[in-house]
Amino acid sequence: MNKILLLLIVLITSAFTPVREESSVADKANAGFVIEATAGDSVYVCLGSGAYAYHNTRNCRGLKQCKANIILVPIEKAQSMPRRPCGYCY
Ligand SMILES: [Zn+2]
Repeated sequence: MNKILLLLIVLITSAFTPVREESSVADKANAGFVIEATAGDSVYVCLGSGAYAYHNTRNCRGLKQCKANIILVPIEKAQSMPRRPCGYCY
């Protein structure tokens, strides 16, 4: 009886400890920051509803007020969203 119980415990614990490390690295890289394009002149755009500008630098003080996701897009796309140049970094 005890051997059967022990066997059950071993089976249960091994079934609930799957090896899955490869996905965590990709998750961290994409957390809160989506890179849409890197070619040409790219600018930073806040996706928040109150955002109106695109930014030259990731560390811009205007961009720090963004509560939503920030994406990197070609400047032409930022102008069509529509966004205007930021008053701090342009
Ligand atoms: Zn800016």
